[in-house]
Formats: sequence, C-alpha cells, structure tokens
Amino acid sequence: MAKANNFNREEKKYLRERTLVLIKPEGVSRKLVGRIIQRFEDLDYKIVGLGLVQASEKIFDQHYPKDQNWVERLATKTLESAAASGIEVDLKRDYGVKTKIELGRLIRTWLIKFMASGPIVKICLEGPFAVEKIRKITGATIPIKAEAGTIRGDFSFDSAIMANLQKRPVLNLIHAAETKEDALKEIKLWFKDSELSD
Ligand code: ADP
Repeated sequence: MAKANNFNREEKKYLRERTLVLIKPEGVSRKLVGRIIQRFEDLDYKIVGLGLVQASEKIFDQHYPKDQNWVERLATKTLESAAASGIEVDLKRDYGVKTKIELGRLIRTWLIKFMASGPIVKICLEGPFAVEKIRKITGATIPIKAEAGTIRGDFSFDSAIMANLQKRPVLNLIHAAETKEDALKEIKLWFKDSELSD
C-alpha cells in the first residue's frame, strides 16, 4: 500500500505553491498588518518572504497589468457599482474621458499613485492551493460587496463610487495574486531569490 507521504515531484510542487500579497498603504497606516498576517498564519500558510517597502510608481506600473481586458475591468467595476446604486454615469461629465478604456486607464493611474504614496508590506506565502485560498479570504474587490469573514469584508467598507468621486482607487487593504502565473511573476518582481526562505 502506498504511504500517505509518498508524493511524486508534481504533487510536491503543488503542496509548495506560492503566492504574493501586498498590504496596501492604508493597511499599514491603519495598523492592520499584524491582524492581516494573523489570518494567513491561522490558515497555516508559511511566510517565506516578508518586508516593509516604499516602492516607486515605476515598480507598480510593472506590477499591475496593462492589457486592455484588465484595464477595462477596472472601469467595469465602476459602471456596475453605479448601476447597482441607480447612479447614471456620464464618462465625459464625470471623469473627463470618452471611452471605458480611458476610464480604466485613469483608475489605473490613481491606483499606482496611491500604492506608491506610503510604505506597504510585501509577503510571499507558501502552502497548498495558496493562490486560490488567499484570494478567497481576501474577498471581493469592492469591500461593501466582500463577504464577512474575508479580510476586505471585515476591515473595510469602501465602494467604487465613493473612490471615484474622490479620484482615488478603492481602498481594500490588500492585493493578492490572481493566478499562479501572476504569482510567479509578482514574486520575481518583489523578492530576490536570496530574500525567500526555503
Ligand atoms: P483585485 O485587487 O480584487 O484583484 P483588480 O485587479 O480588478 O481587483 O483591481 C486592482 C485594484 O484596483 C483593486 O484592488 C482596487 O484597489 C482598484 N480598483 C479596481 N476597480 C476599481 C474602480 N472601479 N475604481 C477605483 N479603484 C478600483
């Protein structure tokens, strides 16, 4: 009979899946770092990289995708939030832009400026299904929609409409890599090999 720990190489790789989390500037200034990290440790994920950094807009420009789908998705969140609140959006009047992609680009600019405005905490976590599970406990992008029990649902109540009125990104405390490919790319951007414990 096979032993329970008789994993082949593929299986071992997936037990050691890694993901990247950033605690955003407002998470640091609200002194939520310890409580957010506690959530990951409660789940038994291992911290393999950790640091407090203030990064440039250039680094965040590399961190956040630039492709049309991703940028348009930012604008979609605004339009959906507005529709749900019965607010009519006029792109030209409200945001000074002509198209949805331009609105997305504008939101991306606010996001990058904000992320570079203060110290953040970068964390590399390791454990089975790390990417999927950490996204799950992160919660929905728009905190008023995030389930109770998730980090965004428990510690924030921002909305896209409030954020856009103030020309800033939605304040939702953390970033968590969305896919395994993103996680690999983001870990490389934020950590040198020598900064990650094995
Ligand atoms: P998530 O962080 O949940 O993966 P996205 O990748 O779509 O969400 O967006 C990146 C970040 O941009 C979000 O975490 C949020 O801070 C900000 N953001 C997204 N959509 C909007 C929006 N419509 N208005 C303002 N900020 C937004």
